Amino acid sequence: VSTGRLIIVAYRLPFKVVRDGDVSRLFQNSGGLVSAVLSLVKDQESQAFDAHQKIQWIGFSENTPEELEGQSMENENFHAHPVFIPADLNENYYEGFCNNLIWPLCHYFPSLAQFHDVYFAAYQEAHQLFFEKVKEVIRPGDVVWVQDYQLMLLPQMIRSAFPENKIGFFFHIPFPSFEIFRLLPVTWRKAIVDGILGADVVGFHTNDYVEYFLKAARLVSELGNKLHYINLGNRIVKVDSFPISIDFDKFNDAYDDPDVTAARSDARQSLKEKIIFSVDRLDYSKGIIHRLQGYQRFLEQNPEWHEKVSFVMVVVPSRDTIEQYQQMKSDIDQTVGKISADYGTISWQPIVYQYRSMPYHELVGMYTASDVALITPVRDGMNLVCKEYVASRQDGRGVLILSEMAGAAAELGEALIINPLDRQDIADAIKTAFEMPDDEQNKRMEAMRERIRDYDVFAWTSDFFTQMTMLELEHDRLR
Ligand code: UDP
Repeated sequence: VSTGRLIIVAYRLPFKVVRDGDVSRLFQNSGGLVSAVLSLVKDQESQAFDAHQKIQWIGFSENTPEELEGQSMENENFHAHPVFIPADLNENYYEGFCNNLIWPLCHYFPSLAQFHDVYFAAYQEAHQLFFEKVKEVIRPGDVVWVQDYQLMLLPQMIRSAFPENKIGFFFHIPFPSFEIFRLLPVTWRKAIVDGILGADVVGFHTNDYVEYFLKAARLVSELGNKLHYINLGNRIVKVDSFPISIDFDKFNDAYDDPDVTAARSDARQSLKEKIIFSVDRLDYSKGIIHRLQGYQRFLEQNPEWHEKVSFVMVVVPSRDTIEQYQQMKSDIDQTVGKISADYGTISWQPIVYQYRSMPYHELVGMYTASDVALITPVRDGMNLVCKEYVASRQDGRGVLILSEMAGAAAELGEALIINPLDRQDIADAIKTAFEMPDDEQNKRMEAMRERIRDYDVFAWTSDFFTQMTMLELEHDRLR
């Protein structure tokens, strides 16, 4: 059993400091990664590191150094180590290289990808800042877990300076097929693959992403690899799929929470007899416009359902200072307006659209009140919303309509799987869902629930670290 600590390196810290006069508070982020890492705090049996020591977390600070002066950066779970990135550098690094290039490319929007030398230079420069912090924090025996597309060069930088420490890397978005990855300039894509291969274990959500990465790795350097092991000569890298998951029990148990129950009955009383629900961040990868067009087609072809269905569509604000996102928002507003204008009546609002975030109890209230969850990203690394929906359905009811382009589709085959670009497919699936008998809903839902219950977020983290531990044992056999 290792006596080292776990060091997470991610773009964002797990909390930010909010000052209110003389008092300051730490606000913990609610994202998927924070919940996943928290599962390690609750499940203190890891062999890979000493889970009784506080998790060290290195990340970009949303607070300035002045705001953090004299401020404790520890809460009961994490000891945070802020990295300060000057605004102009962050613009080219995070907004530029990460969000204007890697994000669209990995979500199959190459026409939106912007290739600028200053972006890549900033990407490298920002990595130096993260690396400086790693050097301050790391001790012999510590395990470093680097997260996501904002930090792809870091595993190799750490490897070169600290060859003895174990390093993991997880990629949270889709790793694109070879024909997309090769659009990157040769030196950039080589740096990316070499950077990632600095890790001992490299994780993706699905087998497809693993396969694409292995192909990309062969494209940029000659690597002999056997199944999921890449032999680099002096060491071996394991590349495998670990579908990220959720805290199943938390969503399952929320069903009877009084706030959730109240939100559920509120929704059922105010809305029509069939409720469709969707929730996602504002992003072109989420397929929001196509989803609306699918619903439009459904209404057009099925007048018998008019006045009987409410589609509650929640869009959570994100990146909406960027012009492209503003444009998308205005396209959504317009399409929603057209649906309401064409079909709405005094007594019926066919679509209830909210552009804001939704508190947890309302979210689970909607998950459990709805007859259909309509989750149609045109590309999504995993998609946690659909897993949360399934976990919330303790009653075994409800139909999940899920895009085949979401990583989660690989695990949730009992959903009605649709092509998110095909509005007829979406319209047909809504009809099928509305007509589905209770016992079939139940059969499908229970099968999906069992899978998510088995492979929840605790299983995800434990699986990853088991592989880290195993790799060491396997080393001699593989060489
Ligand atoms: N969520 C949220 N605020 C909201 C509504 C939802 O934080 O107002 C959560 C939701 O519960 C889920 C996450 O946001 O855990 C979305 O994760 P997903 O993987 O589906 O998409 P991402 O936004 O990471 O692309």
